[in-house]
Amino acid sequence: KLKESEHRYHELIYTSPSIICILKGEDLIIEIANDTILETWGKSRDVIGKQLLIALPEIVGQGFGDLLLNVYTTGKAYYGNEVPVYFIRNGKRELSYYTFVYQAERNLNGDITGVAVIGSEVTPQAEYNKKIKESEERYHNLITFSPSAIGILLGEDFVITTANNAIIEIWGKGKEILGKKYFEALPELAEQGYKEIFEEVYKTGKPFNSIETPVNILQNGKMELKYYNFLLQAQRNADGQIDGVGIIANEVTSQALLNKKVKASEEQFRLLVEQAPVAICVLRGKDYVIETINEGMFEMWDRTLEQTINKPAFDVLPELRDQGFKELLDNVYKTGERFVAEELPIQLRRNGNLESAFVKFIYEPLREADGTISGVMALAHEITEQVLSRKKIEESESHFRQLADLMPSKISNAGIDGKVFYFNKNWLDFLGLDFEEVKDFGYHKIMHPDELEEFQKRFLHATETGDDLEMEMRFKNKEGEFKWHLNIASPVKDENGNIKMWVGSTTEIQKIKEEEQRKGDFIKMVSHELKTPVTSIKGYVQLLLMMLEDVHEKPDPLQLKTSLVRIDRQVAKLTRLIIEMLDLTRIEESKLAMQKKLFNLNDMVTETVVDFSQGNLKHTINVYHDYVCNITGDKDRIEQVLINFIANAIKYSPNNGNIEVRVKASKNNQVAVSVKDNGIGIDAKDHQKIFERFYRVSGKSEQYYPGFGIGLFIANAIIESQDGFITIDSEKGKGSVFTFTLPCT
Ligand code: ADP
Repeated sequence: KLKESEHRYHELIYTSPSIICILKGEDLIIEIANDTILETWGKSRDVIGKQLLIALPEIVGQGFGDLLLNVYTTGKAYYGNEVPVYFIRNGKRELSYYTFVYQAERNLNGDITGVAVIGSEVTPQAEYNKKIKESEERYHNLITFSPSAIGILLGEDFVITTANNAIIEIWGKGKEILGKKYFEALPELAEQGYKEIFEEVYKTGKPFNSIETPVNILQNGKMELKYYNFLLQAQRNADGQIDGVGIIANEVTSQALLNKKVKASEEQFRLLVEQAPVAICVLRGKDYVIETINEGMFEMWDRTLEQTINKPAFDVLPELRDQGFKELLDNVYKTGERFVAEELPIQLRRNGNLESAFVKFIYEPLREADGTISGVMALAHEITEQVLSRKKIEESESHFRQLADLMPSKISNAGIDGKVFYFNKNWLDFLGLDFEEVKDFGYHKIMHPDELEEFQKRFLHATETGDDLEMEMRFKNKEGEFKWHLNIASPVKDENGNIKMWVGSTTEIQKIKEEEQRKGDFIKMVSHELKTPVTSIKGYVQLLLMMLEDVHEKPDPLQLKTSLVRIDRQVAKLTRLIIEMLDLTRIEESKLAMQKKLFNLNDMVTETVVDFSQGNLKHTINVYHDYVCNITGDKDRIEQVLINFIANAIKYSPNNGNIEVRVKASKNNQVAVSVKDNGIGIDAKDHQKIFERFYRVSGKSEQYYPGFGIGLFIANAIIESQDGFITIDSEKGKGSVFTFTLPCT
């Protein structure tokens, strides 16, 4: 029985698929080794009876010897699970895995006699497990070190079961957060409405995806706003039941802030465009599609937003196509150079008509990040009104200039300081100078030095008071002669009463001045002329009175007569003087009365000459009647003219006593009466002037002759009133011929 049982036992060991061997003593001598273990070792039965470490030298250094000895000495079994072992099989070192037990062998006394090894090869299973482990490890590492924040929350309470470094950092609560309920650990998230979102994912299994989501997280006691792209994904167990929620989050704060900034600046730009006081539009691409436009622009075009937005500019404004704007835009597009127009005329279809307008605008190239031009921004400002009103002003200014230039008076314009910036043509013609020579204060040099200081004083005064400056003063003409002018400078004031500029109007009063001078001389002369006969009359009257007072002596009639004749002559002189003066006023008032009667001119001439010859012994007056005729007119007046001519001839020829009076025919049935003397004569330049009122030729010799300068003035008025005319033929120092010509009857 024992033998039988031992045999069965041996059979069992040898045929067992498990590896079995028994090692004896501390030398670990192989006592029993079944076929399976021999196969595993790659050895034959020869190894039986040999020491294990000698029979299988390859296992030395793999630690099994020590393990076995430890079991042998302590009696404690050793269990190995999926232990890797290298064996040399068919000359090759091969790795295989085993699960085994080292068990102490005892005799009947209970003493340890050896170690039994029982086990089985588990190589495929071990390799499989190893792979799984490795992959798990890799996966774990991946999650742990992933820059994306990853976490897994399990159960309805969202217990934090998995969390990688990134998510732990985001949460900012340290590793201790693991195992806690999510919304208890992070109450700030519940407050921001995330709990509901998690619950929804948990309930429906639908993933939740969100981009650039703002999240406030309490970190280091401070709430910090961060932005995340995150995905919430339902987690399912092996049965497919939802048992949690996975979080994958990526922080995109800087990107989100940047996007926000871009958005904000885009928004700002949009607002700027909309609210800008100038008209703006952005044209994109080669077709200049209107991408952005503000009210200012489409209103300027008389279009609506709908008519313009997203449409090619020249489809919207076909009228601009042929006005060169396309070429301008193309050039900006091509060269990248900004185009600026200060004042450009443009034709726009507005209110159904092609209207002329003026615009000020800029075409600014728009560039992409890489520098390529992708569009043009147009900024425009309509200035039609300003341009038109400026043109009007310019026009009126040029009108004014033309007007001022055509004016016969002298007009000037000066700044508040008195610097002249405009002289009209008449002024410059008078001065014979260029504007450049007299502008600013250049005009001081054309003023008479005697009046410059006074003028400056008065100008200062006018500046202070704001009153007109009015001054009679002399200016030098192109011949270098000073001529009297009435110079008036009137201040032009602004609405506050401050002087803006001065307008000067300067009128020549040379003639008036001269007339005044002559009037003065005339009065002096008249007084003198009146005084002389009156003194003489007074003398004769006293003489006569004395003669009559002497009662003893009878007055001598001859003496009486002589005195009375002298008195009579002086009275006649006075009367003539008074008549002349009366005539003068009458002529001035155009009230010279004329009679119209037929008379014989030759008789009248003869009588007059006879009258003269009687009173004048110094001169010989010869009369020649070359022609005989009658005249219809005022005999006395015409006689007065002849008297004046003869009186002048006598007066102005003190050294030569021959005077010739001649009546002769003139063309057109007219008669001419001339008085010729050989006296001092008259310079040609004075021929006209002597007929003016009070005009007397000035000169060394002339001033010795008494006279008022009104005789010829009256003579001229009389002859003209009789439809005749006076001529003069004279040269200085060569005598004179005065002739009046009248129509014959
Ligand atoms: P008056 O009283 O001064 O003679 P008139 O009007 O008669 O005034 O003459 C004007 C001026 O014309 C005179 O002052 C004189 O200078 C000039 N005049 C007139 N007649 C003659 C003359 N026969 N010969 C030279 N000068 C003359």
